[in-house]
Amino acid sequence: MECIFCNKETIESEKFYEDEHYYAIYNLRPFLPGHSLVVPKRHVEDMTGLNQGEREDLVSFLNRVIFIALKFAEADSYDLILQQGEIAGRSIAHLHFHIIPRKEGDKVNQSKKEWLYEFNKNEFYGRNLTESEMSTAVNKAKSIAKVYDSELRALM
Ligand SMILES: [Zn+2]
Repeated sequence: MECIFCNKETIESEKFYEDEHYYAIYNLRPFLPGHSLVVPKRHVEDMTGLNQGEREDLVSFLNRVIFIALKFAEADSYDLILQQGEIAGRSIAHLHFHIIPRKEGDKVNQSKKEWLYEFNKNEFYGRNLTESEMSTAVNKAKSIAKVYDSELRALM
């Protein structure tokens, strides 16, 4: 099976920000509003596969995408999640970090103890965004990245 994060068409329709090493894409099946993924452009299965340039850029890129995702959701808190391995809930064998903005009273808070279980079983209750929902989300995130360009540069 072709890797979905190596598929240019998928990335083009979901991408809202990028640099030399990484894409930021809007999650097709968002757990909560603003749920974004940070994906290395190169196919690597886990963090040990990152090269020096990718390792050096990682925290800066995560910080920039977190900034955009928090503006997107008008939130101050977030979960940053790496699911490494199928038992940890990973469904795509191409390294990716989940950034999930969190707000008081979001649906996850209603079952705090169960949230990780819910997140790992996302495919059972979530649904894929329609093309138009995805493009609305991507355009919103892109315009946030544009408006806050200097703030994002300061995080580089
Ligand atoms: Zn891949």
